[in-house]
Amino acid sequence: MEIVRTIADLQSKIKAAGTTEVGFVPTMGALHEGHLSLIKRSVSENVLTVASVFVNPTQFNDPSDLERYPRTPEADCALLASAGCGIAFLPSVEEMYPEPDTRTFDLGTVAEVMEGRYRPGHFNGVAQIVSKLFYAVQPKRAYFGDKDFQQIAVIRSMVRSLNLPVEIIACPIVREASGLAKSSRNTLLSAEEKTNAALISQPLSCSREFMRQGAGVAETAAFVTRGLQNEPLFRLDYYEIVADDTLLPVKDWNESAHITGCIAVYCGKIRLIDNVHYK
Ligand code: AMP
Repeated sequence: MEIVRTIADLQSKIKAAGTTEVGFVPTMGALHEGHLSLIKRSVSENVLTVASVFVNPTQFNDPSDLERYPRTPEADCALLASAGCGIAFLPSVEEMYPEPDTRTFDLGTVAEVMEGRYRPGHFNGVAQIVSKLFYAVQPKRAYFGDKDFQQIAVIRSMVRSLNLPVEIIACPIVREASGLAKSSRNTLLSAEEKTNAALISQPLSCSREFMRQGAGVAETAAFVTRGLQNEPLFRLDYYEIVADDTLLPVKDWNESAHITGCIAVYCGKIRLIDNVHYK
């Protein structure tokens, strides 16, 4: 695997590979099996897989979150190589932002709800970095995790509005044995917080059964939030049951062919997100 740090080097290595079948996996590093599932999917579907490891400052609305974000570049490169990645791109902030990025993207309502409301500017920062990375790599396919369910809708909206010729591929959430969705931020949890964080996914997966037994949307949402309110370590930002295409809340299961429940909850100081597909 090649490790490159500049866009010029990245592009000359991609050119040398002599293929347009390029799969791309953008990450912020501190890699785990969730990220590696994306790499492996890309390796199986493309001639060349490129991964980026870059903690993007413009998508952090909370400076302390950026400061404490875990950084493990050596381990990341070893994991990427072992998963079959062809090129690892680890740019500096100056390389990606030689000038401050003043672009504002019109990402539609999918960027305004849920995370958009609680993390102002976050998705604009995501669109800034992902568009720069797409221009640099020019991938045929790009792989994103369903853990960041809303992010996928936002990226698809960006790709449509910029007419970028890249196929966006969503990959399932990889979880710990406890059910906790794997996340780089999990390494910031204390042992006790991690045990508690495992309780986030339980009401989510049970609520799918509850829904299948006939519970309505409001009842199902109440089932999930009730399950979390009993735990003093949690502070719920939101639990919303939304239509997959608009990300707007539904009142009835018949309102959309595909419906997902999305949660954001603080476990101590660490904010975690997760989701469950109902249909
Ligand atoms: P991040 O490094 O957190 O920006 O994540 C990079 C990519 O990996 C994003 O597309 C995430 O959705 C994806 N990802 C992170 N955690 C998981 C997981 N547990 N399962 C599947 N994909 C994930």
